[in-house]
Amino acid sequence: MTDWQARVAKLYDGGFRPMVIGGKWCAAQSGEVMEARNPADGGLLATVPKGGAEDIDAAVAAARAAFEGPWAKFTPFERQALLLRIAERFEAEWETLCLSDTLDMGMPIQRTLANSRRVLGMLRYYAGQAVAIHGETIPNSFPGEIYSSTVREPVGVVGAIIPWNAPIAGSIWKIGPALATGCTVVLKPSEEASLTVLLIAKLMQEAGLPDGVLNIVTGHGSDAGAALAAHPGVDKIVFTGSTATGQAIARAATGNLKRVALELGGKSPVIVCRDADIDKAVPVAAMSVFANSGQICIAGSRLFVAREIHDEFVRRVAEYAAGLRLGHGIHEETEIGPIISARQAERIGGYLEAGRREGAEVMTGGAAPEGAAFENGHFYKPTVFAGVTDEMTIAREEIFGPVISALPFDTLDEVVERANATPYGLAAGVFSTHLGTAHQLAHRIKAGSVWVNMYHAIDPAVPFGGVKMSGYGREGGREHVEEYLDTKAIWINAE
Ligand code: NAD
Repeated sequence: MTDWQARVAKLYDGGFRPMVIGGKWCAAQSGEVMEARNPADGGLLATVPKGGAEDIDAAVAAARAAFEGPWAKFTPFERQALLLRIAERFEAEWETLCLSDTLDMGMPIQRTLANSRRVLGMLRYYAGQAVAIHGETIPNSFPGEIYSSTVREPVGVVGAIIPWNAPIAGSIWKIGPALATGCTVVLKPSEEASLTVLLIAKLMQEAGLPDGVLNIVTGHGSDAGAALAAHPGVDKIVFTGSTATGQAIARAATGNLKRVALELGGKSPVIVCRDADIDKAVPVAAMSVFANSGQICIAGSRLFVAREIHDEFVRRVAEYAAGLRLGHGIHEETEIGPIISARQAERIGGYLEAGRREGAEVMTGGAAPEGAAFENGHFYKPTVFAGVTDEMTIAREEIFGPVISALPFDTLDEVVERANATPYGLAAGVFSTHLGTAHQLAHRIKAGSVWVNMYHAIDPAVPFGGVKMSGYGREGGREHVEEYLDTKAIWINAE
């Protein structure tokens, strides 16, 4: 993107970007604002409202009014048409959305641009689902002319809370099924990355989304987020973020017993068997973590390698990591962008220190890059630790940064046990050319997704989510749509 400076100036000039409640673009009732800064260079992009509990109240009221008002009259076919128009608007403005995302949260532009298949696919998939929702006629045990059937109804007002690491896909995963089923939404983006979500709301408005169907309240988790999770006017809460916050949200939701879906953290194992195709496995295993600078929930951060090939494989992953191009995400050649914030960079630094202190060996990386290009941003070199043991902090805790912990293994039974010895269960990767081994591992690993000889495949039509402390509920697939619906039984005495 060569003309990016001109485009940035046009997109974000340091000015105020309002949030949207009931179709109106507004400031926080308190008048407070938060800064949105570019994590690659620290530049001020814009300020956004620092919404609080009173703004959440207003947004929930607007969402309720839309749910019971004009939106309820939209037929499934009209909702389908709307979703398709939104997909068209997104396609037309895709570069602007990506540019916004890259500036606001740092994801390299090559990666954001490549996400269009998934995001546009999501909108079109949910458009299809809108007209596929139906109940059943069910035979019953009553004598005579008593008929029973079911209808599927939208659950109501959905509160959505998302993290910073993938604002476009993250918000569409929540908004898409809501629009397909006839729910309305109050969405709170991460305080670290609000701008692209506001842009998404604007595009949806331009595509004809009625007022109040999607409300965005920007703000911090501790006030706007907590108020949304606890709000008695919210029927369902869908959350993506850390496991600790997910637990707080599940607790807050008990007040009105709202439904909860949680997409949480992970410490995913990647298992490389001795019969793996090493040439193919090296870049995939490396990028399973380094993509998005390791700020991905599914990061394959525990790299289990069969002892026979361990040293060679880890050396090659380290070489691959050392060759990755770090920089400002806006440059097309950048493969690894910045870390979202100073706080997050500090956390990663703490894990690097813990790895060294506990006796792991840095094969590559282990530090921030040097040079003027990195001075005002937050960056870490892709890091590979060898000599890691299962007890070390870096092998147990989610780092959410570009750090791989390599661990040798001897037998399949042993690696299954070690891979499963984590409170998390989000994803796993298996590399093997032996069909039986691949199948066995895919079935024995406890995780919501297992990829064999690949990684990162996430699709609108295929359910994605976690087990154990990686959460519950699924995004993608028919199951996802079901989670936004209630079933009502209707009985008719026709005698
Ligand atoms: P986080 O939990 O700190 O924040 C996520 C969101 O929750 C933000 O919008 C934040 O403002 C809000 N929040 C914080 N405290 C809250 C509270 N008490 N009540 C209500 N809302 C609150 O997570 P993060 O640091 O932004 O993101 C990183 C985490 O997200 C990692 O653990 C990562 O694994 C996880 N994640 C999971 C998935 C998945 O699909 N499973 C995807 C992406 C990220």
